[in-house]
Amino acid sequence: MSAGETGSGGRMLQRLLRRFAPAPAAPADSVAAALAIRSASRPRLGRSLSVLCLDAGSCRGCALEAAALPGAAYDAERHGLRFVDDPRAADVLLVSGPVSRNMAEALRRARAAMPEPAWVVAAGDCAGDGGCFRAADAVEGGVAAVLAVDLVIPGCPPTPEQLLDGLLALLAAEANR
Ligand code: SF4
Repeated sequence: MSAGETGSGGRMLQRLLRRFAPAPAAPADSVAAALAIRSASRPRLGRSLSVLCLDAGSCRGCALEAAALPGAAYDAERHGLRFVDDPRAADVLLVSGPVSRNMAEALRRARAAMPEPAWVVAAGDCAGDGGCFRAADAVEGGVAAVLAVDLVIPGCPPTPEQLLDGLLALLAAEANR
């Protein structure tokens, strides 16, 4: 049998190799163009938000209410809210508590690591303006003393329902913008 000839086993092997061969890679330019078209045509956020909760110095009241959101009672994921622990995967930084001086830099760094567009939500009265800790030496103030804030959800603490309402309002407002 010459080198160019193959038996039925050889032909089957060649068919299998063709079938499972990787598809040729798309040129980088066309991938970039396709991504640009897709991102321009979709709403800013789609229908979900990834939320990073950060306690900047709270009494834990607000943080505990926020911690209830992913649980079975409120099931925030059903509403499109996903809780993450990496700022690089977050759309929203949900900050509770007044900003203590030793947390200010951590807050700035977390916000800087988030991909744009991103939003900052101050959860609770302390996050709003420092609340009852406003005059304390170790406190910078509310979140706005350190970062631009997009939404304040008042309360001491706000209930999980209020937090959920605020986040869903943000999702609706930005998705329709
Ligand atoms: S707003 Fe109230 S519950 Fe929240 S951190 Fe301040 S004192 Fe605590």
